[in-house]
Amino acid sequence: MARKVTLIPGDGIGPEVTAAAQRVAEATGVALEWEVVDAGEAAIRNAGTPLPDAVLDSIRRNRLALKGPITTPIGGGFRSVNVTLRQQLDLFASVRPARAIAGEATRFPETDLIVVREATEGLYSGVEHWVDRDHSAAETVNVITRKASDRIVRFAFDLARREKRTHVTAVHKANIMKTTGALFQTAFRAIAAEYPDITADERLIDNMCMQLVKKPGDYDVLVTTNLFGDILSDLAAGLAGGLGVAPGALYGDGIAVFEPVHGSAPKYAGQDRADPVAEILCVELLLRHIGEKEAAARVYRAVWETIAEKKVVTYDLALPGYTDRPVAPSSCSAMAAEIARKVPLVDLSRPLEVARTERATARASDGNLEA
Ligand code: NAD
Repeated sequence: MARKVTLIPGDGIGPEVTAAAQRVAEATGVALEWEVVDAGEAAIRNAGTPLPDAVLDSIRRNRLALKGPITTPIGGGFRSVNVTLRQQLDLFASVRPARAIAGEATRFPETDLIVVREATEGLYSGVEHWVDRDHSAAETVNVITRKASDRIVRFAFDLARREKRTHVTAVHKANIMKTTGALFQTAFRAIAAEYPDITADERLIDNMCMQLVKKPGDYDVLVTTNLFGDILSDLAAGLAGGLGVAPGALYGDGIAVFEPVHGSAPKYAGQDRADPVAEILCVELLLRHIGEKEAAARVYRAVWETIAEKKVVTYDLALPGYTDRPVAPSSCSAMAAEIARKVPLVDLSRPLEVARTERATARASDGNLEA
């Protein structure tokens, strides 16, 4: 029987990249039945609200969703659909793997880490107000609870075990935020002690940013609060090749929603130019989540080989600044078709090879590439 999946195409490039991801999912042969629901601009047009109840009902029923990005107006306008969705469904863990694929489009081919971000509270709790009538001062409340901190830290250690990773780093700012930061730090220390098989340490957020852009290969799993996690996952995506190749997952109690790190990229909407890889790797994570390990491995391998070959890649992976072999960029749909074509053909018994560019090799021999 086909497994039902809620599909939210989203805004901007969302419909293009989700169509690409569906195409690759179909190539795996895994029986998935898509239940398509609108959120964001399409839902405002059709239902008068950016997040109709039908969307939440569908995800609650299927407990599995693939989502495209949704535009959020800056400053005024409706509240972020993404933030509301996370809070309504209690999707407390945002998991963003940053894996440099085939050593391409990155200065750091050794990048292979996972950012685990608490996604329901912190500075994104929506508790904000003007302090005075003149609107000359404002406050945003940083809500940190022991319950949510324990839950996300435990999630990170369990994930590390499942994924055969060995090290978890907590990221906070407990030196300045002496209540909220210290509460998160205390939760981390208590739970880390329950996982003697996994090493643990802590970094202040500012130092963490500097360490990551110097030697990302030193880090394995990072666990942190909402805002720091949002920033760190974009930073990690940049280290691993850019937003175009960075997938993400949101987990709640028995519910999983898969969405790319990137947004709706309005300037590329409707042009068939956007990189479909982030959304396609969301399918990889979804397949792993439902136990379809071989299909997931095929998707990852097909993406890897397509990027390594660099014959059919979108503009962001074809840029001359990133590669020794600038190539003519392909469309979103052409790259998806190439990945889908490879899915049934890839040989999973062969080791993945990192195609080091000549520049990267030269940097390594200069001693400048962090090992
Ligand atoms: P963005 O991720 O949409 O774009 C940032 C840059 O990356 C742009 O130059 C864009 O063109 C490029 N880019 C993004 N995805 C790409 C892809 N797949 N292929 C090639 N290039 C890609 O971020 P933004 O411009 O800050 O946000 C645009 C909108 O998306 C905003 O309304 C924002 O609120 C929303 N957003 C939504 C989500 C989500 O739905 N989870 C996440 C982030 C941003």
